[in-house]
This record gives sequence, structure tokens and C-alpha cells, in this order.
Amino acid sequence: MNQPGILPPSTTRWDGLRSFWSDPHASPELAAQYRARQVDALARQLPLASLATCLVVAMGFFIATNRVDPTLLMLWAVALMAIAVGDLVAWYWVVHGKVVNPGSRATTLGLSAMLGLAAVLYAVLTVSLFGSLDASGQLILSGLVAAFISTGAWQFAVLPAAGALWVFVFCVGIAIGLVASYGNEFALLAGLLLIYWVYLTSTVLVTSQRFVASLMAETAMEQQRQVVGLLLRDFEDNASDWLWEVDSSGCLRHVSPRMASAIGGDADALLNSNLVTAFTERQPAADIDAAIALAQFGAHLRKKLAFSEVSVATQFQQEVRWWSLTAKPLFGSSGVFEGWRGVGSEVTAARLREAEMTRLANTDSLTGLSNRHHFGQALQDYFPADGSPATVFTLLMLDLDNFKTVNDMLGHLAGDELLKEVARRLRTLTPADVLLSRLGGDEFAWVVPKVLDRHQAESFGQLVRAALAEPWLHQEHLFDMSASMGVAHAPADGASPMALLRACDMALYEAKANGRNTLCFFDAQLDEHAMRRLELLGDLRQGMAREEFHVVYQPQIRFQDNALVGFEALLRWRHPLRGDVSPVEFIPLAEENGLIVPLGVWVLEQACKDALTWPSPLSVAVNVSSVQIERSNLTATVQTALKKSGLQASRLELELTESSLMRDGDAAIALLNSLRPLGVRIALDDFGTGYSSLSYLQRLPIDKLKVDRSFVMAASVQALPQSKAHGARSILRAIVHLAQALGLDTTAEGVETEEVAAMLDALGFEHAQGYLYGRPMNALQAQEFISKWPVVIEVPQFSAMDRGPDVSEPPVTQSVLLRAFSATTVA
Ligand code: C2E
Ligand code: CA
Ligand code: CA
Repeated sequence: MNQPGILPPSTTRWDGLRSFWSDPHASPELAAQYRARQVDALARQLPLASLATCLVVAMGFFIATNRVDPTLLMLWAVALMAIAVGDLVAWYWVVHGKVVNPGSRATTLGLSAMLGLAAVLYAVLTVSLFGSLDASGQLILSGLVAAFISTGAWQFAVLPAAGALWVFVFCVGIAIGLVASYGNEFALLAGLLLIYWVYLTSTVLVTSQRFVASLMAETAMEQQRQVVGLLLRDFEDNASDWLWEVDSSGCLRHVSPRMASAIGGDADALLNSNLVTAFTERQPAADIDAAIALAQFGAHLRKKLAFSEVSVATQFQQEVRWWSLTAKPLFGSSGVFEGWRGVGSEVTAARLREAEMTRLANTDSLTGLSNRHHFGQALQDYFPADGSPATVFTLLMLDLDNFKTVNDMLGHLAGDELLKEVARRLRTLTPADVLLSRLGGDEFAWVVPKVLDRHQAESFGQLVRAALAEPWLHQEHLFDMSASMGVAHAPADGASPMALLRACDMALYEAKANGRNTLCFFDAQLDEHAMRRLELLGDLRQGMAREEFHVVYQPQIRFQDNALVGFEALLRWRHPLRGDVSPVEFIPLAEENGLIVPLGVWVLEQACKDALTWPSPLSVAVNVSSVQIERSNLTATVQTALKKSGLQASRLELELTESSLMRDGDAAIALLNSLRPLGVRIALDDFGTGYSSLSYLQRLPIDKLKVDRSFVMAASVQALPQSKAHGARSILRAIVHLAQALGLDTTAEGVETEEVAAMLDALGFEHAQGYLYGRPMNALQAQEFISKWPVVIEVPQFSAMDRGPDVSEPPVTQSVLLRAFSATTVA
């Protein structure tokens, strides 16, 4: 497929020759254009030719007067002067555009003919003079003629017909004239003239060819310029992008209507104004990004290096638009910097999209606060990449207390609502320069760009507590909210984001451990605690394998007759290096890593096995962790333990804490309903520390309330202040009344003195446990304890019937039974 413009021009064998004359492939119009240029170039030589003619006429008179016929001389002079005038007229007409069609063949022919005619006249004068001159005259004339021919040849070569005709008439005419007028006397001169003719003709043709070539090059360039111009105009008319061009001082040299409407303004007013100033005037107010972008654009312009996609913003009638500018510096032929030429295109939509994406990536979708990702980046920004110390700032972390309870009791939707409400409250008290983020779950964090001292942090914590204290109403339920907070300072408490987070986390953990709704600062001791925790966590699993655990038993008695009713099984860990580790320390760890599940199974089985060595119906109470309830099948575990040991179910009591049963109320009730048919008893441990409502308690299928030892100790007569002791006693009394109303058994733990025991007895408690009766002891000591205790609970007459057929208890020693019997009867 050939396109007309791309097809190479067809060539003929005469093209080479014709190229001396004109462009052999030019269209008729183009050929006419070339001729017009040739005519114009020639015409501009004519004033000089006219002057030369006048000189020739003068010289002619000087040499020829008295030598030739004066009439002939006059005629010749008049004719030449006519030609000189004709030259001037022709020059005037052509140069001043008076010629209707300068590119026509007639014009070129007319001009050529005029010069040819002049050449004939020159030749005639030369020939007629030559014979009558002496040798010196002939020499002058020869020189004059030679110069005249050659300068004419050079001058008229731009129009090859004229140049060639000039040379031909001059050389050949004079040669013929001389031989014809004077015979062979000038044959040699005539021959020389003929050689001169050939030489000058080829010079004319070569010069002409060069001139034509330069015309063709010019035409090609002009065509290209026109095409580019057309394309640019098309681009400016149709594309959304716009072209811009500034000079070396940055002033606009070209302003298209599109550009003017794009950046807002009048094209004429913009022309010659400074581009950077124009953008500055249109810059969106108080937009840091836009200011930075414009500064960068200015810097690029100063560098004089090509740049691409540099953004600038403009504001026009409330509308902010972003432009991407790409440009190349312009350098003149001598390498001088002349300015810039470039293109501008709108990128507002892309920028908005990008901004929206960034916003989404950095925002917590639930609360609209900054999210963990953004928080992490903000934290990272405070720590220089080169490892030098961070700028000082404060990190605060908050964790809601009891959020899980709301989530479990009311469902996740309510939990989400609560988080939104908390976020709203926290936002109102967060200053503008402080970043508030939700890290996930019920955890929030503030990055404060300065050091908050103890007092400032405490008062901020006070504000937070006050904001959360207002109860939250959700579907007719009122919820009290509280939160624990941790504070850490950078870089003092952590030299990297990770270290700082860990420090703050530890402070938060400490706040939680300190009874919630408190604020704690990080200190190095916390770090030591955390290290110890980590090490213990690692050792726990090994401890299980290395049999470092054992169970101890603490006696429980009945107030009514001081009879021993059973023991509570308590777990102990003897660490090979650290010695005895308190369950208060390791039980939470075991709950954390799930080890409490196998450990709990082991305790249960061990306790059942040991209890079987005690006289019936002495019972054993085993603690059950909330994690065991959540992550294992407790009913199956209990069944297995009873079966394995052969212990009567009625001799096993499970101690479940109030809070572990609160987590998922309905599931807890279902669990208890599946445990009780086995025959085991359920005690609600640590009663009073949870939040169970009376209605919930009523629905719980339990047997006993075990009041927390903190109440018992607070109620002690020695406890100070007395008002507190009094309050604690009121609570204990209320608990007894509650238990009696619900038909529940009661145990008071932490009984250390006779006074407390008497008080509890007076209050109506049924059972007691504490150092007063005995400290936790190993299985062997427990057997000894039983044998020494004055009164041991008796088997009720009917309970023998309850015994399972497969239960084989070891024979209870005679003495024990006898002693028990006598003790009861004595009492
Ligand atoms: P708890 O269930 O409330 O256990 C009673 C705690 O009070 C025991 O501490 C016991 O030694 C202590 N105690 C008893 N009488 C007195 C007294 O007169 N005065 C004082 N000051 N303390 C007294 P222990 O053995 O350190 O256990 C602490 C907690 O560890 C237990 O509290 C229980 O929550 C947990 N725990 C212990 N063994 C186990 C277990 O096998 N499984 C589970 N899940 N938790 C256990
Ligand atoms: Ca307990
Ligand atoms: Ca307890």
C-alpha cells in the first residue's frame, strides 16, 4: 500500500541534466514558485547590471569617439541606455511585486530575452570597435569584455536560461563577429572565446543547480514547518492538553485559548507574563502540597534540564485543579538558552483518586480514625533512617476494660457501636496536632509530638476517664465504660518503633494488672517483669514435661461443728532455678499460651486420685480456669477424671470464677446444666469481684458462693480504717442473705484469725477456709491432717445409696471412723 506523498518520485534519464535547470520532480505550481524565486533573485542583480551598462556606455564613448561612425555610436548608446533603464524597471517591478505572474515562463523568457538583447548590443559594439583600436586599446577592451562576461555569468546564473544566453551571445557572438569582420587575424581569439563560453556555461549550470537545490531545501523545510504547525494547531484544538512556551526569563511566549481557560485567565493578559508568577497567583490557598509542588516546578525551570510530569495546582473559582507539566529547554543555534517549550495536562482526577486511596489505606473503616498502618508509619517517621536518636515525643495507649464482656453479651454489632462511641468521645478531647489511632480491637493510641510529663499525662488520663465515665446507653442498657492506659516516652523508653511500642504495651499491661481504669508509665522495672514473664512462659511447657508441678491441699471446715469437710486443691510449680513460683504469676501465663488446658486436666485427675485416699465423704474442690471453659470440653474432662480415679462425683467440687461464667452467659448456663447431672457440685469462686446481676445469679445452676478473701480480710477487726472494715462486713452480711435467699451454700476464704472466724460464723457463713485451719499442704500431709483433725464430716445415712457400683474406695481406717463418730456425738 503506497500513499501518494510517500512514493519516491519517478525518475527519467534526463532528470540529471534537468536538475541543473530546476527541480525535475516539482509539480507545475512548485516549478512556478521556483521560477518566481529565480526571477526575484535575478531581478535583485539588475540595478548592478544597469550601473555596469552605464559604465560601458561611458567607456564606449571614451574609446570609440572619432573611431567609429558617430551616428552608429549614438544609436548603440541609446539602445544600451534603454536596456539599463529596462533593467531598473524590471528590478522595480519584480521586487515590488508589480509583476502579475513572476513565476510564469513568459516572465523568465522576457527577462532572459532582455539580457540576451543587451548581450547582442555589447557584442556588436565590441566587434565594431575592435578593428579600429590600437594594440593597447584592444587590450583594455579585451579585459573589459572578459570581466563583463564573467560577472554577468555569475550574476545571472540564478536564472540559468538568462545566464547561459548571456554567455552564449557574448562569447559566440564576438567570436563569429571578429572572424567575419576581420578574417583569420582574430581566429585564435575567437577560439579562446569559444573555450571560455563552454567553461562559463558549465559554471552557470552548476551555480544554477546549487541555487535550485537551496530552493528545494527551503521548500522542504517550509513544508515541514507547515505540517508541524498544522499538527500543533490540531493538538491545541482537540486534545485536553495544552502547549506552553516561555522565553529565557520565564515569560509566556505563546498562550493558547485552551491554556488560558485551563489555568484560568485571559490569553492576552497571560501573554508575556511570568509563568511561575501566573501559577503563584492561582495557587490554592493554604495548601502545603501545592506550595511544595510549585517550588519544585520553579527549581526545575532553573536547572535548564528536561523534566517530565511535574505537578502544579491552580485554583479558579473555588475549583482546585492539578496539572502535570512536561518540558524541554530550548537552545539556539549557538547553544544559548532560549526558554522552555512543553505540554500541560490535567491530572486532578488521578490525584483525587490517589488521595482517596491513601485516605482509605490509612483510615480505620469502623471509627474513621487513623488505622494501625498509618499509626505505624507515623511512629516510624519519628525515628530517623540513619539511626540517630528520634525527636522526643510521647506515646499513649488505651485499652477498654470489659469490652469483651459487652461484645460477648450483646454481640459484635453492639461492640462495634461501642467502639464508634468511644472513638467519638476520644476524638473530641484530642488536640489537632496529636494523632489518634485505633490499633485494632478495643485498643487506641495517641502520638503526642512532645514530652508529656507525669502531671500532664495524668491530667490527660483524667480527661479520658471523665469522657468515658458517662454511661453509654444501648438498647435500654446502660454501660459503664472505663479504660486502662499506658504511657511511654521516645526515645528514652524505646529507641525504635518496636521497642517503644513494647514499652508502652508493658505500661498498659501494668495498668490492667493494677486493677483497671488506671494509667501507668513505663519504667525499667516493668521491662524486668516482662523479661521474667517471657522466660517463665518459655519454661512452663518444659515444667510440665519435667513434672515440676504438684498439687497441695488446703482444708475447709464447717462452722457449725468445726468438722473438716474437704480440701481445696491448689497447684504449685517448683522451678528448678527460681524455686516456688506463685500460681498468681504462672496461672495467667498458662492461660495465655493455652497450657492451662492440659495442666487443668492433670490437676483434676491428681486431685481426684488423692481425694480417694481420704475418708468419704471428704471432698476436694478444684479450680477451673475460664480458658478451660472456652477451649476444652470440661464435662468430658470431669467425666474422665471421675472414671479414671473412681471418685464419687458428689465428693468433687468445681470452683468456677464469677467472671469466667459472665463471659458468655447462656453458654455458661448450658455448661453447668451438663455438669450437674454428673453429680459434682459447683462453687462460684472469688464471689463479689465480678459484676453478676441478681437476675443472672438466679439463673445459674450452682451450689455455693465462695466469697473472695479480699472481703474477708477487709472485714477483719484489725483491718484499718474501721469504716472500710465496717463496709466489708455489710457486704459479707448481704452476701449471706443473698445466698440464703437463693438456697446456696457459703464458704469464706482467707480466714486467718479466731476473731474473723467468730465474726463470719456470727454473720451466718456455713464453711471456712484459711491459714487459721491450715496452710496448703501436700497429699501426705493432708492425710496426716485428716487423722489429727478432731471432727471429720460424717457420711449421711442415705448417701451410701449414691455410691456408684464401680467405685472402689480404699478401706477407711477404723480409728478415723471411730474418731469421727465420737467427735460428732460429742459436739
Ligand atoms: P483462689 O482459688 O482464690 O485460691 C485461694 C488462694 O488463697 C490460694 O493461693 C491460697 O493459698 C490463698 N489462701 C488461703 N488461705 C489464706 C489465708 O488465710 N490468707 C491468705 N493471705 N491467703 C490464703 P494460691 O495457692 O497462691 O492460689 C492463688 C490463685 O491461683 C488461686 O486463687 C486460684 O485462682 C489460682 N490457682 C491455684 N491453683 C489453681 C489450679 O489448679 N487451677 C486454676 N485454674 N487456678 C489455680
Ligand atoms: Ca479457688
Ligand atoms: Ca478465691
